[in-house]
Amino acid sequence: MSTAVRAPLGRLHEVADGVHAFLQPPGTWCLNNAGVIAGPDGLLLIDTAATRARAEALREQAEGLGHGPVRSVVNTHSHGDHVFGNCVFAPSATIIAHELLGAEVEAIGMGLTKIWPDVEWGELSLAKPTVTFARSMSLRVGSRTVELHHLGPAHSTNDTVVWVPDARVLFVGDVALPGCTPFCMMGSIRGTLLTLDRLRGFGAETVVGGHGRVSGPEVFDQTERYMRRILAIAEEGVAAGITPLQAAREHGPGEFAEWLDSERLAANLHRAFLEVRRPDLPLGAEVDVNAVFNEVIEYNGGLPTCLA
Ligand SMILES: [Zn+2]
Repeated sequence: MSTAVRAPLGRLHEVADGVHAFLQPPGTWCLNNAGVIAGPDGLLLIDTAATRARAEALREQAEGLGHGPVRSVVNTHSHGDHVFGNCVFAPSATIIAHELLGAEVEAIGMGLTKIWPDVEWGELSLAKPTVTFARSMSLRVGSRTVELHHLGPAHSTNDTVVWVPDARVLFVGDVALPGCTPFCMMGSIRGTLLTLDRLRGFGAETVVGGHGRVSGPEVFDQTERYMRRILAIAEEGVAAGITPLQAAREHGPGEFAEWLDSERLAANLHRAFLEVRRPDLPLGAEVDVNAVFNEVIEYNGGLPTCLA
């Protein structure tokens, strides 16, 4: 039996009529948020959770709303904390995602379970999407329209944001993480800046990020400020001929020190250095994720804690 500290299971919070956020505070590594949109005879989920127990807690609370079973799950991106729990809902629920997600899920596999073997992951299998889209897709939940949009590489190559126009609620996946440090190891700094501009255009009143507290659109400005600082440090660091890890140590998290998981700075700088050095590469170009995560561990002075 592991004695590791764990965060409590997540809980649903209604953020607008029939629109719920499943929050798993404090939102650190693998403690993701999910969403539930309740229709008259079934539910649409936005993401699942990292462990079997957490995904089952999500199912129990969502189905406890009394609006029927989970009929579909939209994955905001391919990372395990958002997709591992798909297997609790498929195949009776349809899994929907961007067209690049399935191959990414396959490539990443159960990677998180190897980074944090002490977490009680429970019985999990990879359940990939059976419905995919390239740019946008529209769903109906009862009389409500729900829009899915892929705005380009940002946190990953396959990010989807979910817009509920009548409720003015925007689920942004891990593109913006209120109170938590963004993480672009497998995505793009410049791509995130482009995506943030598009996100502002929705006119959201409520923003649910893939981790952290429920926010308003101010999180877009905060995230932009973080990304611009990362790019500025990278430009200076590339010119000075230092490594991303050296730059991380030299600059630290600065004004963003209170955001959780600040050690992601090392990975974000790795990505930013690459984008400064190699503007010819496509946004979100593949990096050696094991090597980059090792830089995070080195900068942090040990493996970051996972409370899942
Ligand atoms: Zn992620």
